[in-house]
Amino acid sequence: MTRAFNFSAGPALLPEEVLQQAAAEMLDWRSSGMSVMEMSHRGPQFMSIMQAAQSDLRELLAVPANYRILFMQGGAIAQNAIVPMNLLGRVSQPATIDFIHTGHWSGRSMGDAAKYAKVNIVASSQQNGFTAIPPRSAWQLSPHAAYVHVCTNETVHGVEFHFTPDMGENDDCVPLVADMSSHILSRAIDVSKYGVIFAGAQKNMGIAGLTVVIVREDLIGHALPFCPSAFDWKKVADHDSMFNTPPTFAIYMAGLVFQWLKRQGGVAAIEQRNIEKAALLYDCIDASDFYSNPVAQDCRSRMNVPFFLHDSALNEAFLAGAQERGLLQLRGHRTLGGMRASIYNAMPVEGVQALVDYLREFERRH
Ligand SMILES: *Cc1c(COP(=O)(O)O)cnc(C)c1O
Repeated sequence: MTRAFNFSAGPALLPEEVLQQAAAEMLDWRSSGMSVMEMSHRGPQFMSIMQAAQSDLRELLAVPANYRILFMQGGAIAQNAIVPMNLLGRVSQPATIDFIHTGHWSGRSMGDAAKYAKVNIVASSQQNGFTAIPPRSAWQLSPHAAYVHVCTNETVHGVEFHFTPDMGENDDCVPLVADMSSHILSRAIDVSKYGVIFAGAQKNMGIAGLTVVIVREDLIGHALPFCPSAFDWKKVADHDSMFNTPPTFAIYMAGLVFQWLKRQGGVAAIEQRNIEKAALLYDCIDASDFYSNPVAQDCRSRMNVPFFLHDSALNEAFLAGAQERGLLQLRGHRTLGGMRASIYNAMPVEGVQALVDYLREFERRH
């Protein structure tokens, strides 16, 4: 059996080396006589796995000392509720949350936040079909918002922030909260510009079940009284992400991915490769009249590339041919149709090249 090139948006492909290491360690982790899945989360073996994963992630993203890294569960969708439950206690009620509406996922986040506060859409690209990111200068921020929410890479619409929104420098400026699920670790970021960063692991960090939350210390400890204890960042932080049983195997897998990323040269090196991979694919799409991508050039995602065949009647033939060549899971999100190629960190350039070759061949044949 050979491994195919898997373009799934998530759960997504993992580096082959990581899978091989996990397989080799599956039955007996480093002479412990047991699998990681079978270990006590409080035992010395798992504690060492957890600490290494945390410190590797801190190093990879250059997370400043006044930020905590929390390993939680529930995915990014749970954070859509966990974030307001943790941040609204800092401001007087009724609270307002500012949202930048840039696509499917920021829209989903608004839906949950609206249960806890007034949601104010301060900028939106809905009118142009979510094909651009409204520039910071166009945001009409509320004066006393509890926080500003952005989704810095819209996995469905394929738009990505290529700038860091400036929220000002003083201590009481409005915290910026970012859902980075589908591009965390794909590019260098300045963590200090954000109040909270959250991301599910199953796109660029590992497998489903782990949610990473990076939160500035002063934003911890303001949960609303009804916030469940397992979702209270303070409880989670005070117990070093062991307030409840953490998703041990998902943390172990993320740790292997972090070590792999360090062997690749870290985030700066992978970012360079991601730029090259994305250029290869977008150049191919732009050069043809057969395929198209509607996103503004300067807002295109390096991770998720939606594209459309001008003749959508050929969609099924395109997908069947791709499958035959070992190019998997290219069907677009159900809300958009068309195709989507997710080319996360673990996708080798050979995979993108194989897709580009197939795009050209299919165009020639039709
Ligand atoms: C995948 C994704 C989510 C949803 O993640 P879950 O793990 O299903 O909660 C949320 N936001 C973004 C940007 C995503 O890509």
